[in-house]
Amino acid sequence: AIDVQGLHKAFGELEVLRGIDFSVARGEVVCIIGPSGSGKSTLLRCVNLLEEPSSGRVTVAGTEVTDPDVDIDLVRRRIGMVFQSFNLFPHLTVLENLTIAQRRVLRRDRAEADRIARVNLERVGLGEKEASYPAQLSGGQQQRVAIARALSMDPELMLFDEPTSALDPELVGDVLAVMRSLADEGMTMLVVTHEMSFAREVADRVVFMDGGVIVEEGIPERVVGDPQHERTRTFLARVL
Ligand code: ATP
Ligand code: MG
Repeated sequence: AIDVQGLHKAFGELEVLRGIDFSVARGEVVCIIGPSGSGKSTLLRCVNLLEEPSSGRVTVAGTEVTDPDVDIDLVRRRIGMVFQSFNLFPHLTVLENLTIAQRRVLRRDRAEADRIARVNLERVGLGEKEASYPAQLSGGQQQRVAIARALSMDPELMLFDEPTSALDPELVGDVLAVMRSLADEGMTMLVVTHEMSFAREVADRVVFMDGGVIVEEGIPERVVGDPQHERTRTFLARVL
């Protein structure tokens, strides 16, 4: 579903990604871990071209997004994105937050958009909250709304960038549970996270990044449970 080859990204003099090769198969859940500043968010942002790679190839769902002729809006439409900040529209209800892009981008009519929104609100356990405004919800509920909003666009894959790191500890579990059920349903997911128990239990593969390169990757039992590299061990000793 995602294929990245020889990806480099520099901001001026600063080389943030220094040759990344990896792929995510359809239905696979891959967690990216690594220290602050290692390039995790930049890598995710290169996948949906929120950042333009300096060089390399990125293919998403069979479309080479780094091809200059690609219609990036069409590609982005197939990728669900969830960030640390929820970015809900504060002046719209939960239901309206879920329907606006369906109607404007996918041209669904109101009844269809409402129906799909309600299905996805149920999926994240917030069927009762459709008439609420974001400010009336907890951070964890807002993040679940953001996930439901992404799902309402029928994405082929989902990118998550530290979706729980802005949340109070007691709200993290509900969001991770929703992500876990998505994984169980077979969603293709690329997840940057500091939640090692989630990585261990849900990921098919864990990728450890440091200094703009992939230091090691493999099944969680190996990368988290029995890392081969000193840099991975040092990192894990700090977060576990
Ligand atoms: P964190 O765990 O703190 O989120 P990260 O692994 O996601 O870190 P990135 O956000 O990808 O790291 O940033 C990697 C490096 O690139 C950092 O040194 C950062 O300051 C730099 N960087 C990121 N975005 C930009 C930008 N738009 N312009 C200049 N430098 C940037
Ligand atoms: Mg980041």
